[in-house]
Amino acid sequence: KSGFVSIIGRPNVGKSTFLNRVIGQKIAIMSDKPQTTRNKIQGVYTEDEAQIVFIDTPGIHKPKHKLGDFMMKVAQNTLKEVDLVLFMVNAAEGLGRGDEFIIERLKETKTPVFLVINKIDEIHPDELFTIITTYKDLYPFAEIIPISALQGNNVERLLEQIKKVL
Ligand code: GDP
Ligand code: MG
Repeated sequence: KSGFVSIIGRPNVGKSTFLNRVIGQKIAIMSDKPQTTRNKIQGVYTEDEAQIVFIDTPGIHKPKHKLGDFMMKVAQNTLKEVDLVLFMVNAAEGLGRGDEFIIERLKETKTPVFLVINKIDEIHPDELFTIITTYKDLYPFAEIIPISALQGNNVERLLEQIKKVL
């Protein structure tokens, strides 16, 4: 099984921490697929049964700036071309404008989207239910997976779910 996965989310939600943990546990290799300047390969997770290419989606990260049509199209095309989108949010922060912007972009694509609620180590377990309910109302996520990228909680489970859709 192999496929392309784009990780999107506001700055500081933990995207790099997650990638470092996932790629760090297996040897990261460079893909021989052509790498465009706009869609940066962040890392490749490889194991016996699966290869997951994580790619960056610039443009989707900058909701505070007025984006040109071109950048917006590039970002939208990336979301359409990948097999799965991981939309990462911070459990310890409320839903922000940046998240709403991203959700609007997600509505323009048919690619399956997992909601990854990161930093669950920073909240009380009871709060998780409220967070899930809030996001569930906004978009039909294929999966909702709470994790702690820093501590590693549930990261294996997320990888298993990713492999299922590839
Ligand atoms: P990015 O901008 O989305 O790539 O976010 P980073 O991976 O750079 O993380 C931003 C900050 O959040 C760093 O200080 C991380 O150590 C911290 N962080 C990331 N994941 C977690 C987590 O699961 N729990 C906690 N408590 N902190 C985290
Ligand atoms: Mg980062």
